Amino acid sequence: MVKICCIGAGYVGGPTMAVIALKCPDIEVVVVDISAPRIDGWNSSDRLPIYEPGLDDVVRRCRGRNLLFSTDVERHVAEAGIVFVSVNTPTKTRGLGAGKAADLTYWESAARIIADVSRSDKIVVEKSTVPVKTAEAIEKILAHNSKDGIRYQILSNPEFLAEGTAVDDLFKPDRVLIGGRSETPEGRAAVAALKSVYARWVPEDRIITTNLWSAELSKLAANAFLAQRISSVNAISALCEATGADVANSIGKDSRIGPRFLSASVGFGGSCFQKDILNLVYICECYGLPEVASYWRQVIRINDYQKSRFVNRVVSSMFNTVAGKKVAVLGFAFKKDTGDTRETPAIDVCKGLVGDKAVVSIYDPQVTEEQVQRDLAMNKFDWDHPRHLQPMSPSVVARHVSVSWDAYEAAKGAHAVCILTEWDEFRRLDYQRMYDAMHKPAFLFDGRNVVDPDRLREIGFVVYSIGKPLDG
Ligand code: NAD
Repeated sequence: MVKICCIGAGYVGGPTMAVIALKCPDIEVVVVDISAPRIDGWNSSDRLPIYEPGLDDVVRRCRGRNLLFSTDVERHVAEAGIVFVSVNTPTKTRGLGAGKAADLTYWESAARIIADVSRSDKIVVEKSTVPVKTAEAIEKILAHNSKDGIRYQILSNPEFLAEGTAVDDLFKPDRVLIGGRSETPEGRAAVAALKSVYARWVPEDRIITTNLWSAELSKLAANAFLAQRISSVNAISALCEATGADVANSIGKDSRIGPRFLSASVGFGGSCFQKDILNLVYICECYGLPEVASYWRQVIRINDYQKSRFVNRVVSSMFNTVAGKKVAVLGFAFKKDTGDTRETPAIDVCKGLVGDKAVVSIYDPQVTEEQVQRDLAMNKFDWDHPRHLQPMSPSVVARHVSVSWDAYEAAKGAHAVCILTEWDEFRRLDYQRMYDAMHKPAFLFDGRNVVDPDRLREIGFVVYSIGKPLDG
């Protein structure tokens, strides 16, 4: 059987390849990365570099059997017949398209490595999310840099897993999308080869084959639609709060709309939604479609508005000042069941609260103190106004932010609790115990609608649930 190599051992490359290895015991799967700590983490017996429910078990079952993690990128790429490229494609922070376009530096470098080391024909699979027409660029790089006679087939196979449910999503995907050059026999053979891998566990009718550009754009479009749905419900949530209306349940019952992804929240985060919409905006502008670009820009504007609206609500409810007041932040990850904090709304909320001189105490079951410090000190590119937003200096972080080992410790002596991630354990907390240890009035700002506001009001909390009528 052909050997599979995946360049990039991140949130996508690691779990995706682990599931392929589990489902295809006769295929050798090697995940390579230039980051030695990442590879060490994947090879470690105690803590994998990323947290995903069920992932430990999958990795343990095939690591050392047909699943390997290695920093020897050249060797394993050279030996593989199918090379997945799952490197990061963040938003460019400098130069042409800064703040919007995807930075394809890592992608290009992976393509050049493939060209350099290949001694046999290969199928190269775009797993990373890339701008539409990237395959054309990759074909050129490979064609100009390869040894004579080596041929490549490029496929686009975007990943639709969601962090927090990655393993389940990989076991039972809604669809697997494979784009290729079906106009040529070699292109058709490459699509068939990749399809035969997924067909080991994915039902035939869930494997969709299409052309390269449709597969590439489908991923951007799917993320844009998902993020747009969140911004739509969040935009309505502001109106609900102002009017006392509550509509999510009733509109979700319309079968054309459906109930999923319809919960008001403090905003979306994660490494993908914002980045992919910005990328879409840039592509629309490049193709001379400014009206379409501005439509998608608005999705991010509403998301930013929702985060600042939340901070403003906290400050205005607490008599217009949080200076010197302790605020407990429950949840820092961008969603439950992940330790990923990339673009988490908690960064903006914490920066907003500290900007008003609050003292913030954070508890998240999967996020470390180092992550919090790194995230708060990081530059954030403001794409609307091309300048860098102020990162928090280490001394400000040290004075105003601490990380607690549990929710009760975070809330002890606090004036307010803000729930920013919908971890299940936050539903089961002893809020009476928390209330007893807080200053009064004790405020609770629920940015994820995790708690039952009536129950908390009975305890004595002043409760704000996002998108719901305000507490008196
Ligand atoms: P990540 O940052 O977690 O992992 C990328 C890895 O690639 C890093 O470990 C990095 O060291 C490695 N890398 C970069 N250049 C390399 C090179 N030349 N050789 C070897 N390794 C290299 O990123 P991720 O979250 O796994 O995302 C990867 C891609 O998948 C992105 O395009 C992203 O948009 C897309 N995607 C992500 C998700 C998600 O939920 N995270 C879901 C679907 C798609």
